[in-house]
Amino acid sequence: MTQASTQLTAGEAKLRDFLVPRHEAMVADLAHHVSIPTGLGHDPGLDEYRGIVLDRLRAIGGVVEMRTGEARPTWLDFGSQSDDAPAVRMPPPTAVVTFPGNEGPGILIACHLDTVFDPIGSFTAMTISSDDKTAVGPGVVDMKGGVLITVNALEALAEAGELPNITLALTSDEETGSYASSQILRDLSKEAEIGIATEPALPGGELVVERFGSGQFRVETRGKSAHVGRAFVDGVSAVNKLADVITKISAMPDAERGRILNIGPLLGGAASNAVPDLARAWGNVRFPTNEIADELLAMLRELQTSPESMPSVRVDCSFNRPAKPETGAVTRFAQLARGCAESLGQQMPFAKTGGVCDGNILQDEGLPTIDTLGVRGGGLHTSDEWIDLSSLVERSQLMAVLLHRLKQGALTQ
Ligand SMILES: [Zn+2]
Repeated sequence: MTQASTQLTAGEAKLRDFLVPRHEAMVADLAHHVSIPTGLGHDPGLDEYRGIVLDRLRAIGGVVEMRTGEARPTWLDFGSQSDDAPAVRMPPPTAVVTFPGNEGPGILIACHLDTVFDPIGSFTAMTISSDDKTAVGPGVVDMKGGVLITVNALEALAEAGELPNITLALTSDEETGSYASSQILRDLSKEAEIGIATEPALPGGELVVERFGSGQFRVETRGKSAHVGRAFVDGVSAVNKLADVITKISAMPDAERGRILNIGPLLGGAASNAVPDLARAWGNVRFPTNEIADELLAMLRELQTSPESMPSVRVDCSFNRPAKPETGAVTRFAQLARGCAESLGQQMPFAKTGGVCDGNILQDEGLPTIDTLGVRGGGLHTSDEWIDLSSLVERSQLMAVLLHRLKQGALTQ
């Protein structure tokens, strides 16, 4: 196990000191970024926010390439009882920023610009507490604070002439499953050695070292419609068939082994006096390892019938978030990050969580990945989402020192 230095080098102390006077500017920048709505695929807000971040990265030598990925499968959308597929929305682009000419192991940092908040809702601005210690706002920790500390850390490293061999992926669809960006992240991972994502740390600065994977599925049953009064016996109920299937699914979870399935919402039938010919149920699965993901996939596929059967069952699956178990390489990386934190006088306990993020994808491509290097806070995805404002400088210092040590080969030598 790597025993990280607990002393800052003179160069690292300079990085730390460069960031100390930035507190006020970072709070002001964060308030600005939070006020730009980037939820629910709001393109004007995503474009504006992406432009602001890219301008700062270009100013320190970043070279920007825009990439477009796959569209999200339409069957994931709830609520449609018609067969007409909903209009396919253009997948939002991913900005890939590289800093040519810098040496060291390849480091891929995944940041997402999108939030979960309605751009025209009531929760659209950042509010600072009366003691100036915390702030509440949409995306304030998840992850506009994380993007901001990354930009500041890179500016500190650029000022010192110590930028690492870094690739930054600024995605716009993480909160809706990374369907457009996952292949881009996988391709970028193949050219990197180390993965970082700037999801929020827990309030005490805890680093998440293990995450479950997750996936989506939809069950669709088809039967034969008939008028209940005139021809009931001619009908074949898709709702009854769906009920049979749901009963089978309800027996599938094995929570002790982390094999988790939830089913709902449901749709079926148009009127109570007609035998329904179409019913659908959507569900979500969670799994601690990709072996358990394979078990789940096999169990769900087993429910399918041929399309000619009456009634018929079709199951669509998209296990878009692979499991992110703690590996030896992740443990070493976490110890290195903890060493950096301690040398800055910060605490860094380790934790596990059921949440998922783009770090799951990076690690699935073989990169040892730490995904909670963002700011400290909580209440993610709620109207109480908050940040500890002191974590802006603190975590930008941590990011700068960690990137500096990774550039020196602390993890790869
Ligand atoms: Zn996030």
